Amino acid sequence: MERTLVLIKPDGLQRNLIGEIIGRFERKGLKIIGLKMISVDDLKIEEHYGKYMDKPFFKHLKRFMQSAPVIAMVLEGVEAVSAVRLIAGATKGREADAGTIRGDLAMSMQTNLVHISDPEEDPEAEIKLFFQNKELFDYERVDLNFLYSPDELR
Ligand code: ADP
Repeated sequence: MERTLVLIKPDGLQRNLIGEIIGRFERKGLKIIGLKMISVDDLKIEEHYGKYMDKPFFKHLKRFMQSAPVIAMVLEGVEAVSAVRLIAGATKGREADAGTIRGDLAMSMQTNLVHISDPEEDPEAEIKLFFQNKELFDYERVDLNFLYSPDELR
């Protein structure tokens, strides 16, 4: 099973979309193994969005990410990294496909509701930046055998 990090950004909280966003991941069949509300400090912003530190939009991104709490969660599933990216949709909300979180609910390139792990940027390292091991839960989903066929679970 793969694990991947999702952050619901401050616009998700302010726009009362936390339940809607978590519900989409739940209904898909992704397993929530960690969930908390946090504020993102300067160090985390710099580690997390380090590649954008020299971009003109970085100061707005930092201010935005620190403007309200963020919901952090870790989702688990077979090929969860790509599945979660598909559900989130393209970065720019106004161009994202309908049916995705950003395509249905966001207009902006920056205030685009969710952060999702990039497969190129080591999702496991990103999880470690936000969660300690003791904050991640190992439990059995009762519907597992209806979500996947046995060969997918091998
Ligand atoms: P994604 O979040 O889709 O993986 P990126 O990793 O490219 O996208 O960017 C991280 C975040 O930085 C975006 O979700 C967005 O909030 C912000 N961002 C990226 N590019 C821009 C931009 N050109 N202008 C404003 N904000 C941006």
